[in-house]
Amino acid sequence: MDVHEYQAKELLAGFGVPVPKGGVAYSAEQAVYRAAEIGGSGWVVKAQIHAGARGRAGGIKHCATDVDVRQAAKDLLGTTLVTAQTGPEGLPVHRLLVEQAVTIARELYVGLVLDRKRERIVVVAHPHGGMEIEELAQREPAAILREVVEPAVGMQAFQARELAFGLGLAPPHGTPAAAIMLGAYRAFRELDATMVEINPLVVTPDGRVLALDVKMSFDDNALFRRPQVAELRDPAQEDPQEAEAAEHGLNYVALGGDIGCIINGAGLAMATMDMIQHAGGEPANFLDIGGGASPERVAAAFRLVLSDRRVKAILVNVFAGINRCDWVAEGVVRAVRAIGVGVPIVVRLAGTNVAAGRRVLEDSGLPVLTADTLADAAARVVAARNAGRAA
Ligand code: ADP
Ligand code: MG
Repeated sequence: MDVHEYQAKELLAGFGVPVPKGGVAYSAEQAVYRAAEIGGSGWVVKAQIHAGARGRAGGIKHCATDVDVRQAAKDLLGTTLVTAQTGPEGLPVHRLLVEQAVTIARELYVGLVLDRKRERIVVVAHPHGGMEIEELAQREPAAILREVVEPAVGMQAFQARELAFGLGLAPPHGTPAAAIMLGAYRAFRELDATMVEINPLVVTPDGRVLALDVKMSFDDNALFRRPQVAELRDPAQEDPQEAEAAEHGLNYVALGGDIGCIINGAGLAMATMDMIQHAGGEPANFLDIGGGASPERVAAAFRLVLSDRRVKAILVNVFAGINRCDWVAEGVVRAVRAIGVGVPIVVRLAGTNVAAGRRVLEDSGLPVLTADTLADAAARVVAARNAGRAA
């Protein structure tokens, strides 16, 4: 799960990382109010989306007066911001961070990432942070500094000092910079993050060191024990179908085809998608309902698949071990009755309570096609889709 910049800054501030004075705003009026609250004579209005590279896309506006702040807020709120990191569809701007304008002497890069190969958190730093970091990292790969953290002891003060020294920070700036890295590391560990990126970390002419931009991502599987993080979820920034799937404990990924798939187990899902392709069709999605799926969860899966307008036929393929075929069948029947599925449905059930499951489907009197083998099911659903196309 990702969070907004203003939320990530608040979290890091809780671990002693200094950030500029600022506050969130949902309207132009509130933005002006925030600027007055912050005081001073310069502000930055920043679009809050779950993606970076906003500066180059016009999502960061420097303002000298409250009239500018109002205008910047009006220009940003309600728009869709497309940056190098959002993909062509962009992300909606519903919130702004209004922040004190900071005079910058140096911009640095500090990032903490989970290195899955090493099974360690790695702290990465670069002496030139800011908006050109990607290009710089490619042009000057030798300037990238790395410290691998030993999990048994955590990040050590000497590692932070070494990074700060490598960044060319003299002692008066090196000490606060090292403290920021250690604070970011503690936040990473104690909040179950998967990524913390401070870009830029800035040094001001009067010698302060601040996190000017922060990005954080979190481990979805640990959210249950981090309510202070879980409550920061912003569904407006997520794919609506994937957000609904997460709510019901379903694994859902939208794909390009027109045959909707409702399957249990990732392995069976992949095999089923291959079989659909082998039979001449294209899957519209990957959807794993998981083990022990209740009729409610199956019905939710149906709603999800049908919310994709391109779906022209549905294949339900369940090999019930922990699941029960009768529950799956009941979920199918409930969903069809409740939402009146207007496309052909092919169901293949195998495993626990398979006879009871078939009976539920037969007794329902609904026009659900059944199949015995995976090959048969794939062939049928492709044929049903083609018949729909011809009609
Ligand atoms: P993004 O990484 O999405 O482009 P940033 O928050 O890093 O967004 O902002 C881009 C650039 O804007 C920064 O590198 C910095 O130069 C400038 N900037 C951001 N916030 C401030 C601020 N509070 N004061 C002064 N300059 C800022
Ligand atoms: Mg940035």
